[in-house]
Amino acid sequence: MSMNSWISVAAFATVLVVGACGNGAAQEANRRKSESASAITLADVAVGNARIVDLTHALNEKNAYWPGPGYEPFHLTTIATIEKDGVLSKAFSMPEHLGTHIDAPNHFETGQPDLSMISPSQFFAPGVVIDIAPRAEIDADTTLTVNDITEWESKNGRIPDGAVVLLHTGWGRFWDNYSRYKNQDAMGKLHFPSYSSEAARFLIHDRQAKGLGVDNLSIDHGISKDFAVHHLVNRAGRYGLENVAGLEKLPSRGFFLVIAPIRIEAGSGGPTRILAILSKSSDAE
Ligand SMILES: [Zn+2]
Repeated sequence: MSMNSWISVAAFATVLVVGACGNGAAQEANRRKSESASAITLADVAVGNARIVDLTHALNEKNAYWPGPGYEPFHLTTIATIEKDGVLSKAFSMPEHLGTHIDAPNHFETGQPDLSMISPSQFFAPGVVIDIAPRAEIDADTTLTVNDITEWESKNGRIPDGAVVLLHTGWGRFWDNYSRYKNQDAMGKLHFPSYSSEAARFLIHDRQAKGLGVDNLSIDHGISKDFAVHHLVNRAGRYGLENVAGLEKLPSRGFFLVIAPIRIEAGSGGPTRILAILSKSSDAE
C-alpha cells in the first residue's frame, strides 16, 4: 500500500468509527475536528501544508533513563573536529531504554518480535491523548482507569481501532530534573503515574491499540513491582513508548503519528523519533 493510501485508509476508518458515535454537540465538534485532520495527505505534509509536532526529547547526558543496575547516561564523544581534521564526527553510547524510546514486544515477553522485526505498518497510526494530569498532580501513584477511557469516549467519540494512545500525566514538565522526574522515595520506590493493567487491557484488546505511550519513565506506574502493563502489551505483540515529549501541545484526537525507532537487530528497544501530524487549522498550541 502506498504511503498516500495509508493516510486515506486510516482517515476513512477514523471517520467511520467517530461517525458511528452519539450525537452530542461536543462529539459533533470533535468529529469535525477529526475529519479535518483526516483530510491531510502525505502530499500536504511534504509541501508544508500540515502541522508537525515533534514529540521527541533531544538526546543529551542529562536524559532520564531507567534507574536500574547496569543502566548508564547517554554519552557523546568527539572523534574528529573541523578545526583539526576537516570534518566533525562523533560517537554515542546509551542504554536502549533512555530518553524518548520504544519498548519492543520482546522487552518483557519471550517469543515476541525484537526491535528490528516490528512491521513498519505498526509505526503509522491515528493518535489520541488521554489526560490524567490534574489527578496526577494530587496523586503521583495514580493510574488511568477504564472509567477514564469511557469518559474520554463520551466527550470525544470512540478511540479508533489501531490507534497509538498517549497518556498525558503532566510529568513532561519535570524532564529537566531527573530527580523530580523519577520521584524516588527514601525506600528507593519510584512515584509517577501511568496505565492500570485494566485500562491497558481495554486499549490493547477492545480498541486494538498498536501501542501505548506515556510522558514519563514507564507504561507501568512507578510503584509497580510486577510490570503488569508491560507484560500485557508485549504479550499481545504490541509496543510501548516512554518519555514521550510535548503531549500538552496536542488535541485529544484528530492527528496521526509517525513512530520511527532505530532498527537494532535483536534489540529490546531504542531511541525513537515520534512525530504528530495535524491539520493546519487544528487547535494544537
Ligand atoms: Zn523502555
